[in-house]
Amino acid sequence: MHILLGFMYSIDFKRLKEWFLAEKRSLPWRHHPSPYAVWVSEVMLQQTQVSVVIPYFHRWMQRFPSIASLAEADLDEIIKLWEGLGYYSRARSLHQAAQYVVNHHQGQLPSNEEELKKIKGLGPYTVGAILSFAFRQRAAAVDGNVIRVLSRYFEIKEDFAKNKTVNNLRKIALEILPEDEAWIQNEALIELGATICKKKPKCMECPLRSSCKGYRNSTAQQLPFKSTKVETSYLYRAVPIIIFDNKLLVKRGQKGEIMSDLHEFPYFETPPLGWSYQRLQEEMFLQWSLETQYIKELPQVKHSFTRYQASLKPVLFHSSYERPITDHTWLTHETLMQLAFSSGHRRIFMDLNLKT
Ligand code: SF4
Repeated sequence: MHILLGFMYSIDFKRLKEWFLAEKRSLPWRHHPSPYAVWVSEVMLQQTQVSVVIPYFHRWMQRFPSIASLAEADLDEIIKLWEGLGYYSRARSLHQAAQYVVNHHQGQLPSNEEELKKIKGLGPYTVGAILSFAFRQRAAAVDGNVIRVLSRYFEIKEDFAKNKTVNNLRKIALEILPEDEAWIQNEALIELGATICKKKPKCMECPLRSSCKGYRNSTAQQLPFKSTKVETSYLYRAVPIIIFDNKLLVKRGQKGEIMSDLHEFPYFETPPLGWSYQRLQEEMFLQWSLETQYIKELPQVKHSFTRYQASLKPVLFHSSYERPITDHTWLTHETLMQLAFSSGHRRIFMDLNLKT
């Protein structure tokens, strides 16, 4: 039992451990939790579901089995391998961080918190996960799952939109770690949050039910409390797919943009009802002096990224010449097959292959 922030905190580690060892999912990064494997898996798992991550993780570790192999890889190849996972800054950070680790730590992740914190893209959670799961140190690893479980278990009603509340929870998570096998408690709390103490908790299946305050006081479902929610913004885009010969007009996202290093077809922001194809033709002529012939409309594609939800309305056009257009390139179909697209535009491209 530990006293922190004026309260006493303890958790039923014995029951949690028994449950975890019996029920834990078989995940590839758990089989050989090297520091590199833990690092890659944790970065992939940020914002992405486990089932989506597994095949990406296998492909990544096969292609880049070491930090050194990642450091010397070409960024385009890395982005291509990441294609579909979203939040591409994670892939770019991994690449830069691998180069840093090669230059400063002989290609091996360091085993202390201060040095790990200097590596690009490693926040408190990932640092804690590497120290705990790979180096088996007594360090807390607090992600969204752990916040959900502990805020309910201890019935913490403070606002988790505030850094102070999250930092206090990190202290509690560290204080309640057992002296031995602390990694088991960390992984078990994450597992519990991912499989049982979900947004809608399945308390009747939970090994901690008899000592959980949130369950006892029927407050679990209202916790954790967050005062601010990120608002979704809706985008409506007309997407001309312009074909000349065997080439298509595309642009590559610039550094610093959300879609940096990813390819997309050109697009124009429109009102929610969109534009007619004639309006789109006028716009292309006005902006690029490009004359086009309408072919047909293609199925609409919905695409979510960060806090945006975009409706993409692709329209197929033909151009009778390869006009140079600022920030855009005409590329052959074969070349485009090798390049990374943003997920919405990838769907349009794949649709195009099937339908043309
Ligand atoms: S009893 Fe319910 S609320 Fe408490 S930790 Fe378990 S699943 Fe979460």
